[in-house]
Amino acid sequence: MVDYFSKAISRMIAELSSLPGIGEKSAQRLAFHILHMPEDRVERLAEAIVEARKNVRYCKTCQTLTDQEICPICSNPKRNHKLIMVVEDSRDLAAYEKTGEYQGVYHVLHGAISPMQGIGPDDIRLKELMTRLSSKEVEEVIVATNSSLEGETTAMYISRLVKPTGIKVSRIASGVPVGGDLEYIDEVTLLRALEGRTEL
Ligand code: ZN
Repeated sequence: MVDYFSKAISRMIAELSSLPGIGEKSAQRLAFHILHMPEDRVERLAEAIVEARKNVRYCKTCQTLTDQEICPICSNPKRNHKLIMVVEDSRDLAAYEKTGEYQGVYHVLHGAISPMQGIGPDDIRLKELMTRLSSKEVEEVIVATNSSLEGETTAMYISRLVKPTGIKVSRIASGVPVGGDLEYIDEVTLLRALEGRTEL
């Protein structure tokens, strides 16, 4: 494609454009921005990415991305460990944390069930959720997956899994726009969705 750039630049553009939400044009813009940055800043940027990738792992309890064995939320005794909110990814967790109102803990699925894309229940962190539910005194599971088809499918699936255990399962209110990523929804809407949750 862009053979009028040097190989090194073309390679950087190709790598950048492979990231989600970065098209060819954005990749070019980022690439040239980086090329104009002082070398030490570029090194810091590259180092931050490499270091984060190296040190980040899944929290043993909630599966969120963290650099510790147990993430700060799971290891916080002040959080309500009887209340587990199930979200699709760590960004959704961050969105709820930003509200500063939710006192429970989380479980991060890293995806949602999608028969269309060949993603089944075993491809997301459901087994880990069920293990948690069997070993701890959990009172309620709040399913806060997106209101997309995949999110709803996953919510129904979780409800069917959890109900036989006798633990309460609820779903956040559908004040969240259909197909909307939780990440982009404002805090007030998130809190309303959480408060208006209904039992499944
Ligand atoms: Zn955790």
